[in-house]
Amino acid sequence: MSALFGTYARSDLAFERGEGMRLYDQQGRSYLDFHSGIAVNALGHGDPHLVTALKSAAEKVWHTSNVFAIPEQERLGQRLVDGTFADKVFFTNSGAEALECAIKTARHYFFDKGEPDRYEIIAFTGSFHGRTMGTIAAGGNPAYLEGFGPPMPGFKHTRPGDLDAVRALIGPQSCAILIEPVQGEGGVTAMAPEFLQGLRQICDENDMLLIFDEVQCGFGRTGRFFAHEWAGVTPDIVAVAKAIGGGFPLGACLATEKVAASMVPGTHGSTYGGNPLACAVGNAVLDRILAPGFLDHVNQMGQRLSWHLQQLAQKYPDYVLELRGKGLLAGIKISPPVRDFVARLRDDHQFLAIGAGDNVLRLLPPLILTEDDIAEAMGKIGAAFDAIEAETAAGPAAD
Ligand SMILES: *Cc1c(COP(=O)(O)O)cnc(C)c1O
Repeated sequence: MSALFGTYARSDLAFERGEGMRLYDQQGRSYLDFHSGIAVNALGHGDPHLVTALKSAAEKVWHTSNVFAIPEQERLGQRLVDGTFADKVFFTNSGAEALECAIKTARHYFFDKGEPDRYEIIAFTGSFHGRTMGTIAAGGNPAYLEGFGPPMPGFKHTRPGDLDAVRALIGPQSCAILIEPVQGEGGVTAMAPEFLQGLRQICDENDMLLIFDEVQCGFGRTGRFFAHEWAGVTPDIVAVAKAIGGGFPLGACLATEKVAASMVPGTHGSTYGGNPLACAVGNAVLDRILAPGFLDHVNQMGQRLSWHLQQLAQKYPDYVLELRGKGLLAGIKISPPVRDFVARLRDDHQFLAIGAGDNVLRLLPPLILTEDDIAEAMGKIGAAFDAIEAETAAGPAAD
C-alpha cells in the first residue's frame, strides 16, 4: 500500500524522461503530451535553455530568504512589470498562494483606505482558484468545500456571463470581482470579451477591484501573454502560476502600484516564494515566451487546433458535443464519460490529456507544438472514438 495520502486517483504510469512534446515511461514507450502537467510545461520537456538556467543556478546560491535582496527575483519582477499592466509583483510557490496574495491585497487596499468592511469578493460558479481554505471558498465548488468546516466568509457567487446577476450582488461590503478569463478546470469556458469589459465597468462604477486568475490561461496559452488582453481590459490584480516556472514551482501576484501600496512590511510573506532557483528558471521561461515570434506561433497553432477540432467534430457528431476554449486551452465536451476516456487515451493510444468539469476533455499541449503534433493527436482521439464504436457494435463486453 502506498505511503501517500490518497488524495489523487493516480494511474500507475510513471515517466522516466521527457523530450519536447513527448514523455517516455519505464519501458521506453513514448506518449504524446497534451496535458503538460496541467498547463505547466509550456515549453515541453527538457528545454535546453531551461535546463541550463537551473543547472547554473544550482551551482550558485539555492536559497537565502526574502529578507535579503534576490537579484534574479528583482529581474523577473521587473520584466513582468515592463510588459504588463502591473507595477508590482509578489512571488509565490503555487497558484493558490498567488490567489491568496491577490485576495489579501484587495482586502488590505480597502482596509488601508479606512474601509475595513469592504472585504466581499464576487466570484463565479464553475471557477477554480486552488485548494487552500481561502481559495476553496473563492471557488465555491461544494464538492471541494464539504467536510472542511465553515468556509471562509466574504465570497459571493453567481453564474458567469450575466452582468445583471453580478450587479445584484453588489453592496456596501463589495471589494472586488474575481474571475478566470478562461475557466480551466470547471469546463474550459472562455468568457466573452463583452462580459469582461462589463465587469471592468461595474468595478469602475462601484470603486471595486478587478482580479483575474490567469494561473491556467495566462503566460501565452491563449496566444496573448495574458488571456484578458483579448478583451482589451485592464485589471487591478492578476494571479499567475503554472507555466511561469515551466515545471519549477513558482507563482506570482501582479498588481498596480495603487493597489499594492498598502502591502507594507509585516502584511504578507513567504519563505520560499521567489527563491533564486525558481526565479532563474522563471527568467529563462520568459526569455523563450517573449522571444519574437513565440506568441505568433501559439496563435497559429491555436487556430490550427481549432480547425482540426472542427473536423473531428464533423467526423464524430455522436461523440463530440461541443468545442470550447481559447487558443491552446481547448475543450471538447464529449458523450463518453471523460474519466474513462482520458484513461483509454493514455493506456491504449499513448496520448495524455485531462478531464475538466461538465464532461469536457481538456487539451493543454506545450506551446511549442507543431501542426504534425495536432494531426497526430486528432488521429489518436479519433482512434479512441472508433474503438468505442466497435465495442458498442459488438455489444456489452463480458466481464
Ligand atoms: C491550477 C489553478 C490554481 C491553483 O494552482 P496551484 O498551483 O495548484 O495551487 C488556481 N487557479 C487556476 C485557474 C488554476 O488552474
